[in-house]
Amino acid sequence: MIGKDRDSAVIKPSEKNSVDTKTNSEAKNEISAILEEPVTRVRSVGPAVASHLKKMDIFTVGDLLYHFPQRYLDPAEIIPVSRIKVGQEVIVVGVVHHLRKVRATKGTRILNVCIYDGTGYLYGTWFNQDFIADRLTEGTRVSFRGRALFRFGQLQIQNPLYDVLGDDKDFQEAALHTQKIVTFHPATTGLSSTQIRRIIKNAVDDYAELPEPLPGFLLREYDLIPRSTALRHIHFPSSIEAYQKARDRFIFEELFLMQIGLAARKKRVQREEKGIRYDIKTDLLDPFYKSLPFSLTTDQQKAIREIQKDMSRSHPMNRLLQGEVGSGKTVVALAALLTAAQGGYQGAIMAPTEILATQHYLKMTGFLKKLPVDVALLTGGQIGKEKSEILDRIGRGDIDIVIGTHTLIQEGVRFKHLGLVVIDEQHRFGVRQRLELKEKGPRAGDRQITPDVLIMTATPIPRTLSLTLYGDLDVSVLKQSPTGLDLSQRVATFICDQKHRQQAYERIKKEISSDHQAFIICPLIEESNKLKMKSVLLEAERLKSQVFPELRVGILHGRMKAQEREKVMTAFQQKRLDILISTTVIEVGIDIPSVSVILVEDADRYGLAQLHQLRGRVGRGRDKSYCFLFADLKTEEGKARMKAISNTYDGFKLADKDLEIRGEGQLFGEKQSGLPDLRLARVTEHLDTLLKAREAAFELVERDPELKFPEHRLILFELRRMFKQNFDWIFHA
Ligand code: ADP
Ligand code: MG
Repeated sequence: MIGKDRDSAVIKPSEKNSVDTKTNSEAKNEISAILEEPVTRVRSVGPAVASHLKKMDIFTVGDLLYHFPQRYLDPAEIIPVSRIKVGQEVIVVGVVHHLRKVRATKGTRILNVCIYDGTGYLYGTWFNQDFIADRLTEGTRVSFRGRALFRFGQLQIQNPLYDVLGDDKDFQEAALHTQKIVTFHPATTGLSSTQIRRIIKNAVDDYAELPEPLPGFLLREYDLIPRSTALRHIHFPSSIEAYQKARDRFIFEELFLMQIGLAARKKRVQREEKGIRYDIKTDLLDPFYKSLPFSLTTDQQKAIREIQKDMSRSHPMNRLLQGEVGSGKTVVALAALLTAAQGGYQGAIMAPTEILATQHYLKMTGFLKKLPVDVALLTGGQIGKEKSEILDRIGRGDIDIVIGTHTLIQEGVRFKHLGLVVIDEQHRFGVRQRLELKEKGPRAGDRQITPDVLIMTATPIPRTLSLTLYGDLDVSVLKQSPTGLDLSQRVATFICDQKHRQQAYERIKKEISSDHQAFIICPLIEESNKLKMKSVLLEAERLKSQVFPELRVGILHGRMKAQEREKVMTAFQQKRLDILISTTVIEVGIDIPSVSVILVEDADRYGLAQLHQLRGRVGRGRDKSYCFLFADLKTEEGKARMKAISNTYDGFKLADKDLEIRGEGQLFGEKQSGLPDLRLARVTEHLDTLLKAREAAFELVERDPELKFPEHRLILFELRRMFKQNFDWIFHA
């Protein structure tokens, strides 16, 4: 029923590798169209199977062909049970001999599955995962992989990776006998890996002969195999090498298409948005630099140069300025704002909280005292005449620099000619808010002029993410510490358990007696029966009554109203409190030099980047500071994390490490990111490929921004398949 109409359109092998030409690109498009046909076009896929496939987001023939195996089994790697050495990573194939379910003292359900391979018995052990028993019934042939241990007199693997090989007649079994590599595809309830493999076999046999979307010169330059070959080899490899080559090809394809999307989007934004072309003059900047009590670091100078280059172009700036707390972002932002003011435009800074806005205001007015610029603070707290007066002056253009909170994007705020928007700590603001502030730019005739945008963030964004999630932004980085003192010299990190508790509390008392303050961070607000973690409310009671009865203790958490929170923060800032017990709401930006201790409870619950942010809350003054991390070091992962944080004070390294430990699973899943999920590529692992793919993609889009060349038609087609509903995000606003 299928396949007939397709045969006539199959491309001859000789044509496969040739670069697309105008004459055959039409025909190629038609063949590619099969990828978008419903999956029921595949032999032996009826409505019932299709409804199971849907659960794995497989709707089309293309989705099925791109449903890649998650593991393979190389018969050469299988080891007999009798030869296993304890501690070794092994792969064993055997038949399920018996199962046992046990309930341990604490209510943990343990599943023990014993397999026999003709030379000995091996146990797979799972905790609280009884459903696995349904798949591993007695007599089933399976493979286990993992580290072999000797426990309770048994050779066992805890939480082994397992695959069901099917019964004796099964072709996977046959493959084992012929020493062929077996692949395992992600399965779902109602559809085993073996069944999926059979369906994919049909799809590959009938439809894998597809035209090549990647330009021929890229295949040659990066030694990539053509798609049709890669499709066959990734599903049914004849050797490990063939499988790896196929994977390499698809990893490149995936990263290349993602980068094409980012590049095309960036180009479109540049094309559509009309920006301001500044003349860079130094009338304001020179006296500004002269007034500084220090000279700029080379990083600061470089960032300012990059910003001014952007500002002198006709399309708007979209730049990310990243640097850890204390790296000197304020001065860089000021240089940008003065560049705008010099050109006759207004600048605005948006901070996530009133405290941070006020902090900026005080810092900046200090720097700008002697310069002829007018600066105003606009917050939600202002009311009545005071507020309307500021709004009037902004509207008249009397104010050059406005510092505020999200009130800046509210209806009543009208700028005379907004030319630059600086956003502090962007992850607190959504993409939408960023756009709203942009829309407050001036108009030229009937065209909206888009202000330049500079986003400042103190959260180190690993390189891998600035190339992907933020891949359409330009990036400047402040790495040097302007004071020359780095965090590792100012803050000592201690990994603690219960026996260190008294010492840590003594240190807090001592610091407070020498006029310092302390933060104590708990993961929960209220205590919880389920989660055995410290809560702000309970811990505050305990510390107030038993540990620090003579000290002034305040609390802060996310369920308090914003106004209440600001009140507590202000009290703490003005030293009317000694200790602040808080959830991680204090994480970002707060700058209180007299805090010299931070104690984090259940520190193993946090990501490294977050712990690093928390640690950055201390050591803001000149004095030696302390960071106590209380952690339960039961897991290897927890230990690795704590070791990393105590050894490393480089936020970028920690952010990379974090990504490694947590995995990248959800990174791109965020709906507003606009990016597709990656099937095979891992940006940390495949950074080299990512860089090559990015360069090739940006170069291609530079030549053909809308992918209109006939030879790029298939790229456009694949892009639509990959980005799905986010495709519009690339080419349309
Ligand atoms: P950030 O906003 O990145 O957290 P700031 O801009 O507040 O950092 O700068 C931190 C401190 O370092 C401030 O006191 C600032 O005056 C000072 N500073 C900034 N640049 C320099 C420099 N080049 N040399 C010495 N000190 C600097
Ligand atoms: Mg700052």
